[in-house]
Amino acid sequence: MKRYLVEPGEKVDLTKRDPHETGDFKGGKKEGLEAIAKLNQELQELQELLYAEGKHKVLVVLQAMDTGGKDGTIRRVFDGVNPQGVKVASFKVPTPEELSHDFLWRVHKVTPANGEMVIFNRSHYEDVLVVRVHDYVPKDVWSKRYDQINEFESMLAENGTTILKFYLHISKEEQKERLQARLDDPSKHWKFSVGDLGERKLWDDYQKAYEAMLSKTSKKHAPWYIVPADRKWHRDLVISTVLVDTLKGLKMKYPEPKDNLDGIVIE
Ligand code: ATP
Ligand code: MG
Repeated sequence: MKRYLVEPGEKVDLTKRDPHETGDFKGGKKEGLEAIAKLNQELQELQELLYAEGKHKVLVVLQAMDTGGKDGTIRRVFDGVNPQGVKVASFKVPTPEELSHDFLWRVHKVTPANGEMVIFNRSHYEDVLVVRVHDYVPKDVWSKRYDQINEFESMLAENGTTILKFYLHISKEEQKERLQARLDDPSKHWKFSVGDLGERKLWDDYQKAYEAMLSKTSKKHAPWYIVPADRKWHRDLVISTVLVDTLKGLKMKYPEPKDNLDGIVIE
């Protein structure tokens, strides 16, 4: 999965990243789905271990253009994990109270505790994406946020948080198809927002903002992965693989029993 990792300091050019590719994976969709099912089993076991051990904190950040597949990723990759130890935090347009604080205030409150995994559906990165594209704050304010985010994430990492960040990379054509599908299917109308069409017109500005974000904030302790996401199964496969590999790397262990259990007989 190294091919999708953004090396710290790398200058990202999204036009050189193919949203449709399936990379080194030799099989097609059928094999992909089988691999995902296996990984999902492993993820469930690792998450149980994370919760039981209660030592590590795991933060998964998902960012994407509209229709990029954040919701689908959460539904499928995390299918079957124990809801007791996994939370999703969704970041919408900030409330007046949130806006009256610094931009990380609402974020820090929902970062994972020991044993927890938290998935950010959108994140503090909106503050250098939508905010930058629409000039919601002046450039001298948003431009300082890359360093502020890096420092914030370093602090989380130093305090035991494993951070993984995924940018779900779709093509403009794929977005058109997904928007059209939402329009054609009455059961998907609730997902259609006319505002998304306005954002689609700003596609190039968003891609530039994403490139800056990916180039400036991929760090060893908080790496970005650019996930080709036109094919949903391949998107899920990449994310599941990175998650499982990373969790295995934590070398977690079930805790020792609190009491001596030798010779105990339950009557
Ligand atoms: P879906 O992708 O399924 O439509 P969503 O995450 O887009 O779900 P919405 O309620 O449609 O959910 O949109 C949330 C909106 O909030 C997005 O347009 C996003 O850009 C915006 N937003 C998030 N954080 C900020 C922020 N800090 N400042 C301004 N807008 C923000
Ligand atoms: Mg939306």
